[in-house]
Amino acid sequence: MKNIVYKFGGAALKSAEAIKNIGEIVKSEPSKIVVVSALDKTTNALEKLVEAHFSNNDLSPHFSSIKNFHTNIITDLFGEQNNEAAESLTKILHYCETYLQHNKNTPYDEVYDQIIPAGELLSSKILAAYLKKNSLKVEWLDARKILKTDSRHRKAKPNFSESEKLLNEKLQEDKINLIQGFIGGTDGNLMTTIGREGSDYSAALFANFSNAKKLVVWKDVDGVLNADPRYFDTPELIESLNYKEAIELSYYGATIIHPKTIQPLAEKDIPLQVRSFQNLECNGSIIDSKSNFNADKLIYIYKPNQLLLTVSSKDLSFIGEQQMSQIYHALFEHKLEVNLVQNSAVNCTICVDTDTRKTDSLIEELNKNFSVKYNTNLELLTIRHYKEKLLKEILKNKELIIEQKTRNTLKLLFK
Ligand code: ASP
Ligand code: MG
Repeated sequence: MKNIVYKFGGAALKSAEAIKNIGEIVKSEPSKIVVVSALDKTTNALEKLVEAHFSNNDLSPHFSSIKNFHTNIITDLFGEQNNEAAESLTKILHYCETYLQHNKNTPYDEVYDQIIPAGELLSSKILAAYLKKNSLKVEWLDARKILKTDSRHRKAKPNFSESEKLLNEKLQEDKINLIQGFIGGTDGNLMTTIGREGSDYSAALFANFSNAKKLVVWKDVDGVLNADPRYFDTPELIESLNYKEAIELSYYGATIIHPKTIQPLAEKDIPLQVRSFQNLECNGSIIDSKSNFNADKLIYIYKPNQLLLTVSSKDLSFIGEQQMSQIYHALFEHKLEVNLVQNSAVNCTICVDTDTRKTDSLIEELNKNFSVKYNTNLELLTIRHYKEKLLKEILKNKELIIEQKTRNTLKLLFK
């Protein structure tokens, strides 16, 4: 079998039909490792369950909706009779229920990591059962016992050498090795997650560890587009781009691939193909070390829901290196990433994604030593390879708050 790694995200796994389609893909184009994330929006549903636990709200509606969604798909795929996937569903949800009952005082991030992985555990169990039913040889691997991480919950850092060794010990030569993305485990057997949308990164690590020939990320769009179709009307496919451009794009917030995906691939010169699971005719985009990128094509990256913090000293003293390091330390501790930063003598202005659980507590922390003002609900647009003449058009009817330019990149923060 060819040593190719496939990754299927939530959209590729959103219904029984979608799962059957994966069956077809895997049958006709054999791969050695298949990495999955949770079915459709299950991770969001599980996040709501965790929120309800911490707000002391009734958990049963959350459990019911997660259970019904999975049960419908399982029934569609396997019929009514008892089956392996239905048993896994009962077991996994029962585990979550018991865990939440017994962990009323455990910190949020740790609880999050013991509940959220249920999504990937379920999707991988269901897909494994479906592929087996279709006479494919499948080995279900447990990422919690393979991707070993530190215990920085919700943003755990993998231990590469240990995980590489464990993966290669467990991989079965003549089977499809089906494994969860996004989740891992500590040496102490706690579950961990590596950051939202992280299963691309898991897939890239597994490709690196197994010296894969290629990683294919299957998407609901044709490949890497020059603009996000959710926000822009006529996005165009970028057929090839090199690792460096891809890192820049994902770093600025292009949601097509997780920013950490490229590095493990580049290290071993493993090409990444991003292609559609709906349009098999289309070859998608190839990202590798050789491809040239046509810089005539503008690339737009849009991030809504931005929070702009203006952090100043309380006594008009300078915001110097020491203050900056305090501010960045607080950001790191709150597991927040900076989307834009600008300094003046007495201010440091920082833009981050709004995530009230993290950002409220960050503001509280910064307020101890600084004075903090903020604006909510802003939009950040990054344009790679921008052309000056476009700007007027883009900023029509918008209130520009910050504009930042480098030779190839323009960032606009507006209301
Ligand atoms: N299921 C996780 C999420 O939605 C991981 C992923 O999709 O990559 O964030
Ligand atoms: Mg997902």
